[in-house]
Amino acid sequence: MDAVLQAAEQAGHRRTDDFNGPEQDGVGYYQLTQRAGMRCSAAVAYLHPAMERPNLTVITDALCMRLLFDGRRAAGVEVERGNALSELRADREAILCAGAYNSPQILMLSGIGIGAELQRYGIRPRVDLAVGENLQDHANVGLAFLTDTETLVTARTETNLALLLNEGRGPLTSNIGEAGGFFRTRDGLPGPDFQIHAAPVMFVDEGLALPVDHALVFGACLLRPTSRGKVFLRSLLPSAKPHVLHNYFTTEEDRQTMVQAVRRLLEIAEQPALAAYRRGDLRVPASDSDADILDHIRHHTQTLYHPVGTCAIGAVGRQRTARPRRRWAAGGGRLGDAGRHPRQHQRSHDHDRGEGRRSDPRPRHRGDHGDHSRRPAKLTGPDLPDAHPWQDVGAGRELSRKPAERPEDHRSVRDAC
Ligand SMILES: Cc1cc2nc3c(=O)[nH]c(=O)nc-3n(C[C@H](O)[C@H](O)[C@H](O)COP(=O)(O)OP(=O)(O)OC[C@H]3O[C@@H](n4cnc5c(N)ncnc54)[C@H](O)[C@@H]3O)c2cc1C
Repeated sequence: MDAVLQAAEQAGHRRTDDFNGPEQDGVGYYQLTQRAGMRCSAAVAYLHPAMERPNLTVITDALCMRLLFDGRRAAGVEVERGNALSELRADREAILCAGAYNSPQILMLSGIGIGAELQRYGIRPRVDLAVGENLQDHANVGLAFLTDTETLVTARTETNLALLLNEGRGPLTSNIGEAGGFFRTRDGLPGPDFQIHAAPVMFVDEGLALPVDHALVFGACLLRPTSRGKVFLRSLLPSAKPHVLHNYFTTEEDRQTMVQAVRRLLEIAEQPALAAYRRGDLRVPASDSDADILDHIRHHTQTLYHPVGTCAIGAVGRQRTARPRRRWAAGGGRLGDAGRHPRQHQRSHDHDRGEGRRSDPRPRHRGDHGDHSRRPAKLTGPDLPDAHPWQDVGAGRELSRKPAERPEDHRSVRDAC
């Protein structure tokens, strides 16, 4: 990855050690949420240490079917667990955080959505809001080059496994997208409009294809897309996946920005520091013409899994579009997930979830995969106590305090969200 960073510098981009500093532009290694070389999710870092608290109950393997209301007030949820339905009632407020695809689905199934669309499914509208619209995501387009340099495809050795497990270091701590940077395609922008991720492995076809050779990949994603998609119901069954229509690159602005971004990738690839490592082309546009780059975009776009905006807070164009936060707050419910962001955040992805700087021995948060300190969740079944089932779920910042210091638990959680 050093060669990619050097090549970016040779192409005129500045080096940075901190994407979270005053200036985000530049190239460098990503900061990570890791501990001892492995990923550390928010649940592992904040929720698991708080599992023994008497005022916290975590229920897993439960499917939220719909919201419950007392009049206009959101009062809890109906869940299915082990083929049994039960109701979880909130003492003070319910916080919905099922993600940018499923929060709108649950809202719609509960009668909060575009009235005419709900009626087509026989759902009585409670609140007519453009829930599900305004979907945005980070679309990524990559280049891939074959190399003779050893990459992660051969990293799974006994020695490297021992390094990972015993010392928390070595190539197997890689987060794949180890290095990259933030860039602007033109002057006059308030911030970077595309981001690069570089990986020392043949990561192609959304990572679904088996790496069969040594390759270097790096791709660009649009940080502030203007294309808008939509999430809408497919079925009245809460277990059915909703329809997701992303509409990537449906605006000329997005297409042009991505063409410029891919052209910058090609410039970096041509620099001497990287050219020395390239054995051949694996996934590249036929030329640097707009038409060939667009063709490459058309065939090799993938998501970077950052959907937002489907339950947006505040006005985002059409008058009708949500403001659900206010409506919800007044009605005893809130949204606590990426669906509520009205736009993709400028600083979208400035830390990652693995390890890139392998030489750095500092302890880090460790991840969703394979944290040694995982503890089993405390479970309550549908027929178990209904006391405070909603408290504290997901508010990591507050969960790090001792129970005795936080008499206003509910308020803390609400404020954190
Ligand atoms: C492969 C991958 C890699 C990523 N890497 C990074 C990264 O390196 N850095 C970064 O910043 N972001 C990354 N992201 C994005 C990040 O994970 C999301 O932006 C973030 O998780 C969104 O949080 P959320 O709370 O909105 O939704 P989620 O984290 O998706 O949480 C929603 C939860 O609700 C649950 N749920 C949904 N419907 C129901 C229902 N009906 N009943 C009960 N539960 C339900 C889901 O199971 C899920 O646990 C990555 C995403 C993916 C998929």
